[in-house]
Amino acid sequence: MLSLAMSCYAQSTSDTSSKLYSFIACDVNNDKSVDIADINTIVSVILKNATDSTFVQQSDVNDDGSVDIADINSVIAFILTPPRAAISWVDDDFNAFDWSKDGALRPVYQELHDFCLEHNVRLDFARGSFSTPYNAHVIQAHLDLCLQWQSEGFHYLYHPNHSMGWYDYDVEHPHDASKIEESAMDCFLGFEYYGFDAPKILVWPGDSHKFEDNYPVVRRLYDCAISATYKETNHRAENDRHCLKRLSLECLKMGYLTKTEFKQYLKEAVDRGDWIILGTHFVSITESDVPDETSYNTANAYEIIQYADSLCHIRPTGDVWAERKHMWGL
Ligand SMILES: [Zn+2]
Repeated sequence: MLSLAMSCYAQSTSDTSSKLYSFIACDVNNDKSVDIADINTIVSVILKNATDSTFVQQSDVNDDGSVDIADINSVIAFILTPPRAAISWVDDDFNAFDWSKDGALRPVYQELHDFCLEHNVRLDFARGSFSTPYNAHVIQAHLDLCLQWQSEGFHYLYHPNHSMGWYDYDVEHPHDASKIEESAMDCFLGFEYYGFDAPKILVWPGDSHKFEDNYPVVRRLYDCAISATYKETNHRAENDRHCLKRLSLECLKMGYLTKTEFKQYLKEAVDRGDWIILGTHFVSITESDVPDETSYNTANAYEIIQYADSLCHIRPTGDVWAERKHMWGL
């Protein structure tokens, strides 16, 4: 099928009608991805000579009043064209409630939430199953707040319990790949039980992405997975979809990049059309209003996030994945 696609693409590039169309136009079957299924939909409209199906209008991708090979070419050209840059943002180990203060919301998370609303940016919170086991008692006020944030456009991504075999967590909790499926299921069930709606995306706990024997389970359960790297981005599909890379703001405190270098790195990645997954841990960030070049603090974080968003609007990881997954499917 790929060779057919390539030959159609070769024709379409020499064809003056080979204008590129948008993701929305090319997602003929409305399944939030542009792939072979959209081509199949167009082909079936053509073969059935359909006139009344709801897909007929949508299959006319190029809006020229007929559904034909030109529409298929437009979809193929879209699939084969390097996508525009994308930025998403994952805050790891979401832990908004301070048990040393009776479970009160930590001010740093309130500030993060308010910053996002003010600047119209949304991030994904990587978090566990809300309780372990999934149906254990959870404080209703905490749940209500998390669900309210979800309704405001924040997302939660699956981030199973670190100590459940994913990697060598500590002496009592060594790596054991036979345990991770149960841990992953606990997280799925927790999200479902409490009404959280997440794409099938894993945020690898700790450095568990380095353990090869974890991959069979992860490949089976998740569409893709984000690893805990510091200074990497995702160019095209050359890296494993279950080992997507993160660009962590903690590069500052690690001495990998100064703030100025971080912004430069971001700019170059956007210019290449990369997918940049920004990483933070607000649970351990330093609260400070004083920007500098090397601190992992809130002043620097907000400055970098605003700069990133000015280069390319930050969008939910699930939306970016839906738009780019065809790159991994070819
Ligand atoms: Zn974590």
